[in-house]
Amino acid sequence: MSEPAHDRSAVVGDPHRELHDRLIEAGLLFATPVQGLYGRSETYQEVVRALDAMVHRWALTLEATTIHVPPVLARSTFDATNYLQSFPDLMGSVHIFSGNDRTHAELVRRVEAGGDWQALLEPGEVVLSSAACHALYPMLSGRLPAGGRRFEVNGLCFRHEPSVDPARMQSFSMHEVVYVGDPDDAQQHRDRGLRVALARLAELGLEAEAVPANDPFFGRLGTALAASQLEEELKLEAVTPIFAGRERTAVVSANCHRDHFGQPFGIENDAGAPAHSACVAFGVDRITIALFARHGLDPSTWPNEVRSALFS
Ligand SMILES: [Zn+2]
Repeated sequence: MSEPAHDRSAVVGDPHRELHDRLIEAGLLFATPVQGLYGRSETYQEVVRALDAMVHRWALTLEATTIHVPPVLARSTFDATNYLQSFPDLMGSVHIFSGNDRTHAELVRRVEAGGDWQALLEPGEVVLSSAACHALYPMLSGRLPAGGRRFEVNGLCFRHEPSVDPARMQSFSMHEVVYVGDPDDAQQHRDRGLRVALARLAELGLEAEAVPANDPFFGRLGTALAASQLEEELKLEAVTPIFAGRERTAVVSANCHRDHFGQPFGIENDAGAPAHSACVAFGVDRITIALFARHGLDPSTWPNEVRSALFS
């Protein structure tokens, strides 16, 4: 999920800043020393759980297998997704200490001196999760049954884009419904899923529209990738206005991957061809923020029809 890059700086009168401050004053979010990283209140989390339950109900109708994935991803998996080609600036790597007594002493010395102790670490076998569905693909290496398979994948993801915009968190929840199998079914899953998402958002009182994604691909290489993504409409997003008079915010993305994952992870359809995949990813935190922005900061005062759609 993403939208055209916009001014990320905080200025007086900035609606991002205003909503950010209101959410914190209401005790829904708790600020940390890092922009875009929050503690969440129980009231906030009740909305998150209700949205997760809503996506889960849809996944059940598709007979999807549910997998809750960890917030970190195997580095080997990450490497095979080619994420670095497109979004090197958004990723986060986990580094670990594997030294001996001598390097430990040096580590402590540097910490106490306020020095560069990180230089004594080395890359661990995991990175922060870039997208919930990325964890799924290495689990599927091999031959799929006829008709493919569907999965519900839920977990925390990371994107390094510090911002005062509360809808642009660095650590956020992503709840996806994924199809892996044949090309036509993948396309259908994506298109049908996007329609379901738009209908659910409408029930929640969020007017949303599907638009081709305009991802913030990095640099010169990324410009070419962005152009082909737009041209081929591989990625669509449901966008909703959170900030009056500003850009609309993507709250759901619907993606056709073709064999982008089937190929490197050795996933085959029942005919032995590289599997195609598609995912519909609900940005649960963004939808939660949109609900608070749209209906007010106290869910008990939200319109009845919204409450019954959400908490049923
Ligand atoms: Zn996905």
